[in-house]
Amino acid sequence: MFHYKDNILHAEDVAIDKIAEAVGTPFYVYSSKTLSDNFKAFENALKNAKLKHTICYSIKANNNLGITGTLAALGSGADVVSAGEMHVALTAGIPADKIVFSGVGKTRAELKSAIENRILQINAESEAEINNINDIALKLGIKANVALRVNPDVDAKTHVKITTGKKENKFGVDWDEAKGLYLKTAKMKGINLVGIAMHIGSQILDLDPFRLAFTKMAAMVEELESAGIKLQNLDLGGGLGINYNVELPPSKDDYAQVIAQTLGKFNKHIIIEPGRAMVGDAGILVTEVIYTKKMGERNYIIVDAGMNDLVRPAMYDAWHTIIPARKTGAAPITADIVGPICETSDTFAKDRIIEPVAQGDLLAMMSAGAYGSSMSSIYNFRPLVPEVMAHGKKFEVVRKRTTYEQMLSGESKPSWIK
Ligand SMILES: *Cc1c(COP(=O)(O)O)cnc(C)c1O
Repeated sequence: MFHYKDNILHAEDVAIDKIAEAVGTPFYVYSSKTLSDNFKAFENALKNAKLKHTICYSIKANNNLGITGTLAALGSGADVVSAGEMHVALTAGIPADKIVFSGVGKTRAELKSAIENRILQINAESEAEINNINDIALKLGIKANVALRVNPDVDAKTHVKITTGKKENKFGVDWDEAKGLYLKTAKMKGINLVGIAMHIGSQILDLDPFRLAFTKMAAMVEELESAGIKLQNLDLGGGLGINYNVELPPSKDDYAQVIAQTLGKFNKHIIIEPGRAMVGDAGILVTEVIYTKKMGERNYIIVDAGMNDLVRPAMYDAWHTIIPARKTGAAPITADIVGPICETSDTFAKDRIIEPVAQGDLLAMMSAGAYGSSMSSIYNFRPLVPEVMAHGKKFEVVRKRTTYEQMLSGESKPSWIK
């Protein structure tokens, strides 16, 4: 919930400039209400579609404990893609039996940890991985819950860098080989074969690719059942898009209806793994204008946030709406909004129409809750920025700005230097 009150931008009932005073800029601020509204909207959509389900929030969208802890308290599960994310999920209070583990390159150490924690399911993506899981599970004497992630060869019609369900993408098991692999895996003594999984991409704005992929999954489930393989869990991945600019994403209700229409007849346990649609609009990045300058006819607004804090525009040509924290109503100008990093790609917006701003003014980059802080780095030796959560009239720091001392703490000069 980000809105203007008397021309001043607020996160819930907290004025943005008040947070800036307390923690300095740049910083992320999250709305606890938007987050819980999003979770409840998914819950209600699945419930209304009469689907037995678990929502496994995709931690990689935003792994902050303030976010994961809020979702854990609401009853969310987690989709993790590393042992580190599994650690975060467990620390946040998400029970192991609501955690699914995805990813093409899980190491033996990561698989061991997942099996020992007895998580809901490991989504295996290759025969080699299945063999590894079986081997580790037999050594531990624990049966591992496994689903196969199949690649449905569906075009999600999204940005090339975030499409994952095409034959030429690295993800999942080839569709035509899936049945053979199921039959092999079913015989393995270390494996409890519990499900089937897919994830076709991210920022998907059309229900058709979902419908196509889920329909393919239905056919696969029927084929497997007639071959004697009974599955409990149908994991549909994430990928539902959000509005950044002019997009019109499908509603969570319509998404759930597509699931019901394609897979409801099996009456099985549905798992969804939303990331972006859970946290994207629940966070903004607030930055201060350091300088403005004019070169030829071009206006530049130079801000104190950089591509290391929010990489999406540099990496995916992503659009973030950028608005002033204090609306003046002055006639807008056209400007490039750029960060301080020594890279040309450190540009948040080109030819953006925006109210004129001056040194010291605050700007907010909207819908930065997903793949913002979780993709940030300390490039240019810039500290990770604070993350704040607003809750009604209250706000709390849920990650402090890192210090130079912390940033250097693991480093040392080699001993041979005098
Ligand atoms: C990234 C990812 C998700 C979340 O995707 P969103 O587009 O953020 O919803 C879900 N499942 C898997 C396997 C992923 O890799």
